[in-house]
Amino acid sequence: MSDRQASNTKRKLRGACQCGSVTYEVDDEFAFAVNCHCSICRRATGAAFKPLAGIEIGKLRVSTGRDDIKTIGANGWQDQRCNSCGSFLFAVVRDGTFAHIAMGTLLDDPTIRPQAHIFVGSKAPWFTITDTLPQYDQHIVADSV
Ligand SMILES: [Zn+2]
Ligand SMILES: [Zn+2]
Repeated sequence: MSDRQASNTKRKLRGACQCGSVTYEVDDEFAFAVNCHCSICRRATGAAFKPLAGIEIGKLRVSTGRDDIKTIGANGWQDQRCNSCGSFLFAVVRDGTFAHIAMGTLLDDPTIRPQAHIFVGSKAPWFTITDTLPQYDQHIVADSV
């Protein structure tokens, strides 16, 4: 099998931190994508909400800078940041089996788009949601995100 055939079997997306030290590759097979407005995601990103896309951990590979990754968090939920520039790359969740990619770190355009706003019940009062995506006060379904 040629390299061309191999690369055609699955579309892959590249991602990187701000300084470029940490790069990753992820299969374009996200299970879901949402904009999370919870106070934790807002403070972790400094933004009004965090667009995140979920995928099985086996479909995510750190390409460069593995030793530069700083892990922040408790068991079952670990944010992965670049230790040099601080970029929030992804969170490892569900006891290490799943990853929430911070979509802002993707260099390539994923097929999926955020499908809903979650934790709108705790969104920033200064931010107004102006699109027509469904809004949920908390999770869409308990344990789904
Ligand atoms: Zn960096
Ligand atoms: Zn959140």
